Amino acid sequence: MNIQTVTGKLSPEVMLKTMIHEHLVFDLSGVRKEKDKDSMLENDSSLDQEIEMLKNSGCNTIVEVSNIGMGRDAGALYDIANKHDLVVIASTGFYKESVYPAFVFEKSAEELADIMIRDICEGMDGTDIKAGLIAEIGSSLNEITKTEEKVFKAAIMAHNRTGAPISTHCEIGTMGKEQLALFQKDNVVMKSVSFGHQDLNEDMEEQLLLLQSGAYIQFDTIGKNSYREDSAKVKNLLVLLDKGYENQIMLSCDITRKSHLKQNGGHGYNHLFENFIPALMESGVSNEIIDKMLVQNPREFLAFK
Ligand SMILES: [Zn+2]
Repeated sequence: MNIQTVTGKLSPEVMLKTMIHEHLVFDLSGVRKEKDKDSMLENDSSLDQEIEMLKNSGCNTIVEVSNIGMGRDAGALYDIANKHDLVVIASTGFYKESVYPAFVFEKSAEELADIMIRDICEGMDGTDIKAGLIAEIGSSLNEITKTEEKVFKAAIMAHNRTGAPISTHCEIGTMGKEQLALFQKDNVVMKSVSFGHQDLNEDMEEQLLLLQSGAYIQFDTIGKNSYREDSAKVKNLLVLLDKGYENQIMLSCDITRKSHLKQNGGHGYNHLFENFIPALMESGVSNEIIDKMLVQNPREFLAFK
């Protein structure tokens, strides 16, 4: 089966190294109520530089998980894909309760599913640029609210209708087990689901529970040391790899602020390839296993089922 990129359906083979959970262009500045507009990423020269660094590292695919209410910009993603010869996969869905547009509280699960299906089958925001992933579908810290549960239900309906995969947001790594229960209640084939921000989850028993279900998990906040140090993430990852879960883990940095960009003194998207992958290799992780996490697993996860 194909993947669905902003420039159309493609064979998964076009994907080289892939970042599985990123934002290129989005705007959460209104939500976070910051005067400095740090929580806003734009299609500008600093992004161009970041992407050129990634391409030099052999990364040609970005999974963009900004969705409705997060300042998603389909046209900008299409332009970026063409300008940099980058594979970009865009997302549909709704993020979490504190970010939902007002209508999410009012509409039924069926109506929300219809919006997602339209984004996947017809195009996003009045364009013919299609979403290729249902993401990032989130829960709040230590809680799945009633409305969040409705959005999960809608995401499952849209998945069943379109075959698009689903990627979730676990706030600071929490609520994975409860999200899993929602998917299992509706008999979702867990190979189509990836749980986000699991590198922030210090409960390894829960990580293992998610992996045992057949789902993917993401170590996708690499470089965000304020939540958890990369060194702790490496140790955690080594244990999971040691248990043989290399076919179900994917990696990313989840860049969400201007201050994360290299030009502004941040670690940048390329931190994954520049620092984290070398740290894994120093710890004895083979090229073959790194290739699974960066290339093979994303190809299999993102192919429509
Ligand atoms: Zn997230």
